Amino acid sequence: MQPRDLSDHAEYQAGRGIEEVARELGRDPAEFVKLASNENPLGPSPAAIAALEDAASDVHHYPTAAHADLTAALADEWGVADEQVWLANGGDGVLDYLHRATLAPGDDVLVPTPGFSYYGMSSRFHHGGVAEYEIPRDDGFDLTADCVLDAYDGERVVHLTSPHNPTGGRFSLDDVETIAEETDEETLVVVDEAYGEFTDAPSALGLVRDRDDVDGSRPSAGRAKRDDVAVLRTFSKVYGLAGVRLGYGLVPEAWADAYARVNTPFAASALACAAGLAALGDEEHREATVETAAWAREYMRAELDAPVFESHANFVLVEVGDAAGVAEALKHRGVIVRDCTSFGLDDCVRITCGTREETERAVDALNEVLAA
Ligand SMILES: *Cc1c(COP(=O)(O)O)cnc(C)c1O
Repeated sequence: MQPRDLSDHAEYQAGRGIEEVARELGRDPAEFVKLASNENPLGPSPAAIAALEDAASDVHHYPTAAHADLTAALADEWGVADEQVWLANGGDGVLDYLHRATLAPGDDVLVPTPGFSYYGMSSRFHHGGVAEYEIPRDDGFDLTADCVLDAYDGERVVHLTSPHNPTGGRFSLDDVETIAEETDEETLVVVDEAYGEFTDAPSALGLVRDRDDVDGSRPSAGRAKRDDVAVLRTFSKVYGLAGVRLGYGLVPEAWADAYARVNTPFAASALACAAGLAALGDEEHREATVETAAWAREYMRAELDAPVFESHANFVLVEVGDAAGVAEALKHRGVIVRDCTSFGLDDCVRITCGTREETERAVDALNEVLAA
């Protein structure tokens, strides 16, 4: 017996972990700083750690109440109905649910290149195909409605990442609206805002909901409320909970009840829900995280002796020449960054915003490598 034909399926290339690299080099893990996976350098919110400890003794129960509580808190935060909040096992899980709710076998999704590889992987898991739109490097990877619409050919789902990984650029709300307007009625535009908290740009949720008093994202009266835009958010980045796997989709009212038909019986664990609820309430941790990232990306732009693309997220993309060689040399200096060759950018590395100390160390190390 064999699995089905998986020759089109690619493996996800995760950023490398400290333990793995330290073992390979025969060094002490404490000597390394990992700035490869856009994790939170401040760690999780202390409130989330306490909530995880509290919830541990209750994990013999299914997470019925915890699920409902977190959903209600997020609905309140965003000014939408509970049904519009789709909890999932990470942002990746949200992509699976959105595809499961929309794709019939043979339907295609349109994804950015360079871009996050899981969009295409998830489509293939759901017997869908993948088409790409190119983000033009000539224009500094500027994200525009045109670069998407020029490639659009009736795909069922169009994926936008804003702020974008790995470039750090973002779409304007007007461009998202234009894309939604110009694509077919039955095309869903997914706006992946995994890094949304790091930018002051309004969420694309403003195109989907009635209320305009939540975060100012629906400022211009006259925008029509849409039923073809969904937003992805995650607790992995700003909330520092990448290890618990928690994300959520915010979907239009009109088809929000599809969740009940496509989700696994409990999409997020009791521990994840407890940690997420506590983190959501910890504004101080969130603000400190956003400030640290804003400082670090400006510092890297100013101090690195290489071109750095403007970023609205918690990382920067840096043009270094030989990305694999530079990443390897940095690793020997104890700094782990993301070689972007797997994104199709073999001359760029992506560096996560660290603490001040970590960021300064990364900048010094990279400048040394570039000078050598
Ligand atoms: C990190 C990330 C996600 C979500 O990651 P999860 O850990 O699964 O929540 C989604 N999209 C992009 C572009 C990301 O970088």
